[in-house]
Amino acid sequence: MEHIYLDHNATTPVRTEVLQAMLPFYGPEFGNPSSIHSLGREARRAVEGSREKLAAALNCDPAEVVFTGSGTESDNQAIKGAVFANRAKGDHIITTKIEHHAVLHTFEYLQKYFNIRTTFLGVDRYGLVDPEELKRSINGQTILVSVMQANNEVGTIQPLAELAGICRENKVLFHSDAVQAFGKLETDVNELGVDLLSLSAHKIYGPKGSGALYVKKGTRLHPLIHGGGHEKNRRAGTENVAGIAGLGAAAELAAGERLFQQGHLTALRERLWQGIEKNIPSVRRNGHPRNSLPGTLNVSFEYIEGEGILLSLDMKGIAASSGSACTSGSLEPSHVLAAMGVPTEIAQGSLRFSLGRDNTEEQVDYTVKVLAQAVARLREMSPIAPRTSCGLEGKSS
Ligand SMILES: *Cc1c(COP(=O)(O)O)cnc(C)c1O
Repeated sequence: MEHIYLDHNATTPVRTEVLQAMLPFYGPEFGNPSSIHSLGREARRAVEGSREKLAAALNCDPAEVVFTGSGTESDNQAIKGAVFANRAKGDHIITTKIEHHAVLHTFEYLQKYFNIRTTFLGVDRYGLVDPEELKRSINGQTILVSVMQANNEVGTIQPLAELAGICRENKVLFHSDAVQAFGKLETDVNELGVDLLSLSAHKIYGPKGSGALYVKKGTRLHPLIHGGGHEKNRRAGTENVAGIAGLGAAAELAAGERLFQQGHLTALRERLWQGIEKNIPSVRRNGHPRNSLPGTLNVSFEYIEGEGILLSLDMKGIAASSGSACTSGSLEPSHVLAAMGVPTEIAQGSLRFSLGRDNTEEQVDYTVKVLAQAVARLREMSPIAPRTSCGLEGKSS
């Protein structure tokens, strides 16, 4: 059975070139970057080489890049670090209702245990934040605003530079979770005007457990992890040299082929959507039709549940997702779709397809075929699906 992987927003396979860049550090180049001897200096060279590659991708100074253990850690470090360092300035932070849980749960924690006041901005039906609402939400006590560059479930890209500009005018720190955007969209921290930006290796064909945080020069942050003086006292612990080497290689490769991949993935995504729209009634597309991650397509199939479709696809070797990776296995509808105003029963029938560099037109066409059969079969069994003498009612919308 052919395996078709359409879940690249959850994670990506490690590229061969990335693995090659990592392997020496699991072998002969095992030195500790803090050691003075030549083995240590070799490891240090690898870490600093990767820092330069990330700085090039972000258009920043290498000293502004801090290596972390994940995108989640980068988000935690940015938000908690900024709050702890600026507690004297105020007690209010702002984010959106559609953030990744790495941001949302960090906000909820700070609210619950540190008496920090939180504001969660809404979004419109496409998943866009309203800059005017941000303006109205900022007050004299606001320390930090955190808005993701692109959403992992529906792909919507935020007007980040505009939102960051509002924060700059109000002297409020601006963080962006760019874990889904980095390597896929332009992520020039100067053009975006961000103070803090999170990224992760395993979303761009790098290894899991390796991330980074851009920290603009002069931004005061408390470290979350205390210990040695690694990362200029910003993140203690012996560096994950292989993981950092992998992240640097992945970032460099992604930057080199970004424009090509944007074209490739946009074409595949539109082919997938057109196939679905043409062959399956009662479907709707979630997310912004244009300002969206090139490879992300979120679709609601009315009258049935996403999990059922996912299992049918899986039996045919196709991997997709019912939204954000849900560890609880509960049928909680997506908080992102809920914030966009998608009714619960429709949100429950939603799937996320996230395409990657190795996907082909043939795979997309096969997926449409399998999907049409699965949806038709599940709807036949669904007590709520409307029926007419000639099958299902309703037009795609
Ligand atoms: C995957 C993801 C994260 C978490 O990154 P990890 O490296 O898996 O911890 C955070 N935010 C977004 C938007 C993501 O897609």
